Amino acid sequence: MAVSQRERAQRKCREKEALSFPFSTPQASGQVVEVAKGVLWARMPMPMALNHVNVYLLRDDDGWWLIDTGLNSEQSQQAWELIAAQQIDGLPFKALVCTHFHHDHAGLAHWLMERFNLPLYMSYGEYFTMRALASDKAAPIQDDQKGFFARAGMPAPDIDHMFEKLRNYPFNPPCPQAFRRLRENDELSIGGRRWRVIVGGGHSPEHVCLYCAEDKLLIAGDQVLPEISSNVLVSDIQPEADPLKDWLASLDRLDALAPDTLVMPSHGEVFRQLPERLQQLREHHSRQFDLVMALAVRSPGFTAFEAMNCLFPQQLSAMEQLMALGEAIAHLNWLRREGRLIRRQRSDIDNFYPAGTTPTSA
Ligand SMILES: [Zn+2]
Repeated sequence: MAVSQRERAQRKCREKEALSFPFSTPQASGQVVEVAKGVLWARMPMPMALNHVNVYLLRDDDGWWLIDTGLNSEQSQQAWELIAAQQIDGLPFKALVCTHFHHDHAGLAHWLMERFNLPLYMSYGEYFTMRALASDKAAPIQDDQKGFFARAGMPAPDIDHMFEKLRNYPFNPPCPQAFRRLRENDELSIGGRRWRVIVGGGHSPEHVCLYCAEDKLLIAGDQVLPEISSNVLVSDIQPEADPLKDWLASLDRLDALAPDTLVMPSHGEVFRQLPERLQQLREHHSRQFDLVMALAVRSPGFTAFEAMNCLFPQQLSAMEQLMALGEAIAHLNWLRREGRLIRRQRSDIDNFYPAGTTPTSA
């Protein structure tokens, strides 16, 4: 059942070959690439394994709409200053849309709004999640969250180590004071194009995608990425959540769009063959479910931490470990909801068994 690194790499290669990437990638230093008339692709740098986030600019009659911001960092500010200085078509920045609240997408919203006098468009769920997290705490992680990780079976020294690393996370942004709300099916009229809001879930609470049906263009945010699968996690805020249900339903909804849609994702390259990519992502999660069920048979009573090590056998940084454990729990919650796994608590740790078996002591 073990899948070798080589097999994973080969599958990734095959998956990539099934998609097409019609444009060359812009440098994350103020370069822009036009991917459709009046639609520009740019990149903001990130000092981590995932080293960039894509941002997009949409030309309106009297200025540019910006989609997503990059991290709250000086490098991102410099890249935006360079783009602004080009005064593309002689037009200023006009408005900002953030697909969701994550730091690489909305972290620089406060600065862009102030620097260029922009209104911010977001969904309700994303804005208020950002606002709650910003007002709640200066650090991304608090000691009272440790119980969640202990219940998942993470050894105490590992928890301490992870918290220590995360405490030094440098990109916590301030939250803008006001926003304009985007809802499902809202339409933004930008430069003669109509962009319809499609709200997705699973990766974040009310993630906004923008779709132009006439020209078959999708600004996808993190709802579909060409080379990596988006993080779908359960956190201590909502430990019984089933975000994979929302995620898989969102993939199905994107499948209703035109098959030859040009997809503009937040990470990786602009691509075509949306239906193939959605199918690859479904198959990815189905393989993850199979891995968890095989673990359940092999070692009944396993913990979420053991499921994480099975699903993500590679070396993980502290932030990656946080996301990987949350994603492992998302798979466990989905399988429980499906009636394939049961959970029993034993000395404050959750243990998982295949459904239909009787745990010796519950
Ligand atoms: Zn995200």
